[in-house]
Amino acid sequence: MNAIASAAAGPAAETLPVIVIGAGPVGLAAAAHLIARGIPVRLLEAAADVAAHVRDWGHVKLFSPWVYNIDKEARALLHKAGWQEPLPLAYPTGAQLYELYLKPLAETPELSAVIETGARVTAVSRAGHDKMMSPGREQAPFVVMVHKSDGSARADLARAVIDTSGTWSRPSPIGAHGLPVPGEAANAGRIAYGIPDILGRDIDTYANRHVLVVGGGHSAANGLLDLAQLAADRAPDTRIVWAVRGSSLKRLFGGGENDRLEARGALGRALETLVETGGLELHMRSAVARIEAAGSALAVTLTQPDGAAEVVGVDRIIVATGLRPDLEMLRELRLALDPVTESPRVLAPLIDPNLHSCGTVRPHGHRELAQPDTGFYIAGIKSYGRAPTFLMATGYEQVRSIAAALAGDMAAADDVQLELPETGVCSSDPGEGGGCCEAATEGAGCTTVRETVPTTGEKACCGAGKPRVTVTAAVAPAKGCC
Ligand SMILES: Cc1cc2nc3c(=O)[nH]c(=O)nc-3n(C[C@H](O)[C@H](O)[C@H](O)COP(=O)(O)OP(=O)(O)OC[C@H]3O[C@@H](n4cnc5c(N)ncnc54)[C@H](O)[C@@H]3O)c2cc1C
Repeated sequence: MNAIASAAAGPAAETLPVIVIGAGPVGLAAAAHLIARGIPVRLLEAAADVAAHVRDWGHVKLFSPWVYNIDKEARALLHKAGWQEPLPLAYPTGAQLYELYLKPLAETPELSAVIETGARVTAVSRAGHDKMMSPGREQAPFVVMVHKSDGSARADLARAVIDTSGTWSRPSPIGAHGLPVPGEAANAGRIAYGIPDILGRDIDTYANRHVLVVGGGHSAANGLLDLAQLAADRAPDTRIVWAVRGSSLKRLFGGGENDRLEARGALGRALETLVETGGLELHMRSAVARIEAAGSALAVTLTQPDGAAEVVGVDRIIVATGLRPDLEMLRELRLALDPVTESPRVLAPLIDPNLHSCGTVRPHGHRELAQPDTGFYIAGIKSYGRAPTFLMATGYEQVRSIAAALAGDMAAADDVQLELPETGVCSSDPGEGGGCCEAATEGAGCTTVRETVPTTGEKACCGAGKPRVTVTAAVAPAKGCC
């Protein structure tokens, strides 16, 4: 009898393990919290080693110091294994985050016993219950389809599932409409997504080339500053073109000195200086409409909202237009996701950059992340859907709360606490970069809710200093912020 058939008759859900999908920082922390609660867990990782996404951007320096990057239960397991904790105020690169924290964590006896690498989850459902089937659904275990790197496949059963599979492998395409533009696929060989290693393994691709960077977030800033350093130090003929669809740079430059994450503020300030000193060619209110091969280069058509168009010639393009969650693998589950952010619906008003961009979010946990299919949670950066500014510390608190809820310790599960640093800039109008929460004082409140939904607490942004959330107040609709 195969696993799915046996499940229909099956073992009671509560005797099964919790399956965590993806061994990034938050998935590893989830496993540590479940182990601490004595709950059986399996952690399935698609890659050959843990933290595949972090290793992919290993050349990038984090903007949060170690003190924010280490989960409490993970720290306890590591100390038991004789770990030397990094200095709390030092800033690791992604590679150091892996080498000094995530790798030793995965190697602890407790975690190595529950991690399976080379195990990609391709779909999740409930045993004997497709999406339409209601009777008995709540009692049915979850079915997790696993494809192994050796080509084999199997169906695992779980009492609950925590999806921490991240978004890094799903970059958004170049079009301002969220779709690939004509010529994007055909010229893929000269287009990179995310943050290429411009000063390291990819240096020959960018040295003395004419490079277009598209996007207005931290990833774009990283790419632009690396290109500028390449031009200054080693390849003087490197030329940089930056296309952003916004009309104000204020929001793009971030909170500067008001950003309580110093390194994140410094990134914005360095970018501002680069623009002011003419270190790049800037195209505001510009969207890529078409990419054409032009000999050994690319002809990129940029359009403005008034229809004006211009063509720029470049050698390479770096696309930093955001990331998206993989929802296809969750298709058979009953989910309540926000139509804008694709995050769990109740979480969306706290993080939607159309409403504010504080980059700080009130503490939240199992209640905000719960789905209509009870026992299924999306956590980690995937819980933010398409919204930016997720921090690991947020994810650690999410999974602490979920593990407590799965253990039935509702007092601990509801006692969500989190100190996150403010970005120092917050906009209710991303196009204009209005600074509604600028220089926000600790605990200053604002209400930013798109519609009436049950949510936690009475305020949605700028309130990172508030340590505790009181659960399930219905929030009246309100626009704007502060
Ligand atoms: C360049 C960059 C810099 C950042 N800097 C900071 C910072 O300074 N401070 C901070 O707090 N946050 C930062 N973040 C944000 C965030 O904290 C990180 O992205 C963090 O890695 C998110 O952790 P995660 O565990 O949620 O997901 P991920 O790290 O993305 O891990 C997901 C894991 O799931 C695996 N996986 C994916 N699909 C499947 C599947 N189908 N089956 C099984 N496994 C799967 C992946 O291989 C990966 O190992 C940064 C993000 C980026 C991209």
